[in-house]
Amino acid sequence: MSKRDFYEILGVNRDASDDEIKKAYRKLAMKFHPDRNPDNPSAEEKFKEAKEAYEILSDGQKRAAYDQYGHAGVDPQAGMGGGGFGGGGFSDAFGGIFDEIFGGRGGGGGRSNIYRGADLRYNLEITLEQAAHGTETKIRIPTMEECEVCHGSGAKPGTQAKTCPTCNGSGQVRLQQGFFSIQQTCPKCHGTGRFIPEPCKSCGGAGRTKQHKTLAVKIPAGVDEGDRIRLAGEGEHGVNGGPPGDLYVQIHLKQHTVFTRDHNDLHCEMPISFTTAALGGEIEIPTLDGAAAIKIPPETQSGRVFRLRGKGIKGVRSHTHGDLMCHVVVETPVNLTDRQKELLRELEDSSKDNSHKHNPRAKSWMDKVKEFFGD
Ligand SMILES: [Zn+2]
Ligand SMILES: [Zn+2]
Repeated sequence: MSKRDFYEILGVNRDASDDEIKKAYRKLAMKFHPDRNPDNPSAEEKFKEAKEAYEILSDGQKRAAYDQYGHAGVDPQAGMGGGGFGGGGFSDAFGGIFDEIFGGRGGGGGRSNIYRGADLRYNLEITLEQAAHGTETKIRIPTMEECEVCHGSGAKPGTQAKTCPTCNGSGQVRLQQGFFSIQQTCPKCHGTGRFIPEPCKSCGGAGRTKQHKTLAVKIPAGVDEGDRIRLAGEGEHGVNGGPPGDLYVQIHLKQHTVFTRDHNDLHCEMPISFTTAALGGEIEIPTLDGAAAIKIPPETQSGRVFRLRGKGIKGVRSHTHGDLMCHVVVETPVNLTDRQKELLRELEDSSKDNSHKHNPRAKSWMDKVKEFFGD
């Protein structure tokens, strides 16, 4: 597969300044960022392509190698080994350079291993009533906090971290390979520039231990299944002083015994007796703000829907309440006594001669059946 020229990808001249390169990349990254182009694999490709070009051209040494030897000069597969780019999965595309530009760390200058912490997600189940009216709840989440024994240094109390002997504290090492010298993250200290001779026993030298923290979460009225509430800065800690990620509380609605929700509307089934359906009457139904009455007109059929305006839910971003839809289900009577059965038979007999009048639907259906059998 032939690769496109990195300058061409970014749309800059070969003598472009670092600033021009950064600007060009920022423009492309904004345009093709996967968050802005969901379901568009070609945008993702372009985003990765621009990222790779930027990683090479923004690094003085890699750029020089590329200028002199082309892709072969910077391609890890061409025998240079262990370069710091390519191969990384998609999360990598969001981790480093992208955050450097968009995450507000600013501070141009040298490369570093400073990363923003990862975003976390917490699944929170709430009731329909809580979703409708809003609520406040506390959640307990695992977190990596500063080690209480070494106070974050990672060194056993009484000892100290030392400057890394491999990189002399710079966090980077230079490798001479053929024509080139390549700068790499120090393998001994992983770029921290520090080396801990006697690691703290409590945290194993990491400086942080797993703990739990309790957070208060305010759930606004009207939230729906899948909505996310962002708690800024409550995600994972950043690496090497990078900013923390965010925590997203994702809402899940528990199933309700009476209502199902469709956006801001509520639906419920409303069983009514055979007699009420025929003669009419009044039915009391529950709503989220108490009981309400529905007048059932005579001759009400199964499947009829009564809409109660404004008895649904007011969505987070809407100005009005949805409606409550009550779906009529006419219930066939069960457990009848002999006397009651007798009354029903009497009813049936009395309407036999006029069945087309009393049961027009059944009558018209029977006619169609007869037609079907060619009677
Ligand atoms: Zn410790
Ligand atoms: Zn080192």
